[in-house]
Amino acid sequence: MTANTAPVLLDLAPLGAAHFARIEDKVAALMRTRESVVAMQGEALLPLEACIRSAVRPGSTALNIITGPYGETFGGWLRSCGAEVITVTAPFSGAVSPEQVAEALRAHPEIDFVSLVHAEAATGNTNPVAEIGAVVRAHGALLMLDAVASVGAEPLLTDEWGVDLCVIGGQKAMAGPAGVSAVSVSARAWERIAANEQAPRRSYLSLLDWKERWIDGGRAVLPHAPAQLEMLALEQSVDRLEATGLDGVIARHRGAAAATRAGVRALGALAPYVVRDEDAAPAATTLRAPDGVDARDIVAAALAADATVPVQAAGGALAEEMIRVNHYGLAADRDTVLASLKALAAGLRALGAQVADDEVYLKAAGAAWDAVIVD
Ligand SMILES: *Cc1c(COP(=O)(O)O)cnc(C)c1O
Repeated sequence: MTANTAPVLLDLAPLGAAHFARIEDKVAALMRTRESVVAMQGEALLPLEACIRSAVRPGSTALNIITGPYGETFGGWLRSCGAEVITVTAPFSGAVSPEQVAEALRAHPEIDFVSLVHAEAATGNTNPVAEIGAVVRAHGALLMLDAVASVGAEPLLTDEWGVDLCVIGGQKAMAGPAGVSAVSVSARAWERIAANEQAPRRSYLSLLDWKERWIDGGRAVLPHAPAQLEMLALEQSVDRLEATGLDGVIARHRGAAAATRAGVRALGALAPYVVRDEDAAPAATTLRAPDGVDARDIVAAALAADATVPVQAAGGALAEEMIRVNHYGLAADRDTVLASLKALAAGLRALGAQVADDEVYLKAAGAAWDAVIVD
């Protein structure tokens, strides 16, 4: 390091209220919402927990839709707020259907809160939020959506879909920071939260503090020093998405998923974990390891062949059978997907598995990418 290297992350001018509000407005436009958007000064689990603790209280009945690991986390928070929790679970190899949701709402008319994950990076599935939102709106419950793994990777139409509380983070398809996040809050949701005596107040988890101290005052004075570097990075990631064109970025994620699925089907040994193409998340493709082979060994062998590919073993109970290809953000890219497939093929061969020749699965994957992306 030379003595005169100027640190670029230090000595910045303070991030003022007007700039902070402008970043929130850019995020609101990206989320397609005209409701309030609060930039939360922590990773996306902060607004997710804040939404549940703000809107739910003893006497609430919540429908928690579980399609992956985050839904299980939500169930714990809902119960700790004193809610009665009704659970609808879909296999991680698919999506929840609007009919399943409608049936649960019919069976339990008292449901007043619904929590749903849009896309699951951890399990590679995505749910039909437009249809589910219509069902929930007809019933009258509040809908909370975790859109962390979908924003930037697939369409997210917060207001049109009737989402009352929508949470995003920058760290997946936006290729941005993980340390700040944002939540949109509908007028209906603010009413419910304001009427909840148990909603956090004077707390880092409080949405009401932001409403009273920031939004209601015309966003003139920040309640405390913002996470400046992360907020600037969030702004740059939204600006880059808009400059590149959101539709094009979404198409690249769709192309990456299509190419990975087609490549794996041509490769053999592995299979897409999510069965139907329409249930597959554009942000990440999950793969099922062959019987008798531990997914973690395949990942280790693949990374030994090429340590740069975004291939990872699943967490928790799925670690033995599931492999993740995280083709989100800058990895939503033809070369990255082909390199990931090549590394998996090399790893499988090293473990003695029979797989197709490189040119066969690379051709299938490339053709699937080219069918989505016409440069
Ligand atoms: C990535 C992700 C989050 C954020 O959580 P991390 O564990 O910090 O990555 C939240 N929800 C979903 C659905 C995600 O995919």
